[in-house]
Amino acid sequence: MNRQGSMAESLVCLTFDFDAMSGMVAKGLKSPTAISRGEFGAVAVDRILPLLEVNDIPTSWFIPGTVIKTYPDQCRRIVDGGHEVGNHGWTHVPPTDLTPEQEDEGLERANQALFEISGKATRGYRSTSWDLSPVTVDLLIKHGFLYDSSMMGHDCLPYYARRDDIVSDDEPFAFGPVTSLIEMPVSWSLSDFAHFEYLRLPNSVAPGLANAGHVLDNWIRDFEYMQRTEPGGILTFTLHPFVIGRGHRMMMLEGLITALRERGARFATMEDAALAFRDRANVG
Ligand SMILES: [Zn+2]
Repeated sequence: MNRQGSMAESLVCLTFDFDAMSGMVAKGLKSPTAISRGEFGAVAVDRILPLLEVNDIPTSWFIPGTVIKTYPDQCRRIVDGGHEVGNHGWTHVPPTDLTPEQEDEGLERANQALFEISGKATRGYRSTSWDLSPVTVDLLIKHGFLYDSSMMGHDCLPYYARRDDIVSDDEPFAFGPVTSLIEMPVSWSLSDFAHFEYLRLPNSVAPGLANAGHVLDNWIRDFEYMQRTEPGGILTFTLHPFVIGRGHRMMMLEGLITALRERGARFATMEDAALAFRDRANVG
């Protein structure tokens, strides 16, 4: 592919966070009903994979280590479908709630579980709850990751992550040095969870349950705007099987794939999109 061609191409990464019940457990929701809500994610995996296969779409799946061990057959089918699998911690407890030692050990354990199902070293990481600890970037570099996908510094262009920012309450923000870790940015507005999932916690209620057609319209507009303003951009959608797997949302996902294809999108794994960004950055 020549440089001009690759620069003009608009990429879309469909990413799936296969959390099953791990997200509920991390929130302290451990009743049989809460667990069953996560369990539906395993049902949905077997709805999503055929849709991706029929449309010949490579995608990226971020799976906590505990979920790999709970659902090895589903995870193997994800790998057999040609999809990338990435690190989503050992449990779903966010890095901000772990000690550096716990975070390091969790990354290592999850990498081992991913290697057992994929036979490959994992190159991508997405933090649970999209919340990095002060040491996450350094740990990811130590473990040889190519990219992280948890931050929100752009809507459609990757960038290199920083370490050691200095955040003061009453002084200007001080940017730390840029690292070699590629950041593949995400957004709550491009996540199914924030739009659709009703969640009642002791001190809050997330209403969710949005009209899928309205969300589809937003997501198509985001792609069109990227095409207009950032040729060569990468739009990343974050989907959760237990959320997107409901009937009207699966039909919305079908509609999204069709609409983006009609507009010239190329679907890629996050790893391939990160490598395309790195190649372009090196050439540029
Ligand atoms: Zn998750």
